[in-house]
Amino acid sequence: MITTRFAPSPTGRLHLGHAASAIRAHDFARARGGAFLLRIEDIDGTRSREEHVAGIVEDLAWLGLAWDGPVVRQSRRLALYDAALERLRTMGLLYRCFCTRADIAASLTAPHGPAGAVYPGTCRGADNAARMDRPHCWRIDIARAVDRTGPLTWHDAGAGIVAADPLAHGDVVLARKDAPASYHLAVTVDDAAQGVTDVVRGADLFAATHVHRLLQALLGLPTPAYHHHPLLADAAGRRLAKRDGAPSLADLRDGGMDGAALAAMLRAGAVPLGFRAARA
Ligand code: GLU
Repeated sequence: MITTRFAPSPTGRLHLGHAASAIRAHDFARARGGAFLLRIEDIDGTRSREEHVAGIVEDLAWLGLAWDGPVVRQSRRLALYDAALERLRTMGLLYRCFCTRADIAASLTAPHGPAGAVYPGTCRGADNAARMDRPHCWRIDIARAVDRTGPLTWHDAGAGIVAADPLAHGDVVLARKDAPASYHLAVTVDDAAQGVTDVVRGADLFAATHVHRLLQALLGLPTPAYHHHPLLADAAGRRLAKRDGAPSLADLRDGGMDGAALAAMLRAGAVPLGFRAARA
């Protein structure tokens, strides 16, 4: 069965971009008689807020979107991520990293990849015996992982067949110092565990798919089809972002907007006054 999901992080209220993305994922599944799931990505305990989880549920209901089954919370699925980490560890693909953000920023050799600075590999192959008790994260030795899987591809509705290039991301973090799993690991494990066949999400996550594809191959998980859609932008062409004061759905609701009318507008490819669709 075709299965899609909306997977927000409860680190703030949803805005118009989230609404457009949730509607796309919902409608994609419903048009095919499929299932639409809601997954709350709340593994980041320092930034996730319970009030935002309630807000997400309220906002989706306001838009008229209904999901199938219970709301899945990543914070309740840590054993699954642990098991995946253990498998990768057993394959000899993970290493402890003791570097702070400042250490990495100070490294003059740090090149840049699709998601910012690429980790320069300082702790790869280092002797850690004397510092095991210090806080550390776990990184994947991406070159070794790529050697193991060989070339990989994935299919994107817009870009077609894409050759995975996880090397450009460097040795990404799979388990953080302050959180039991990283976004990359949790999203890959969950999409497979929940039987997601089609990942419908914003173009800002296109690059992350290179890493997700690699993790799928390493963990023996199926690869969904990907549908990365353009993001909404404000009238000046800037991507809508909470930090730039983009109105939340709650703000629009409080201002008297009707949720069903807004959903209809977004489905028609229109956006409320002052906003427009960004170029892909
Ligand atoms: N939790 C991610 C976010 O809110 C989205 C995850 C995904 O769709 O893969 O940006």
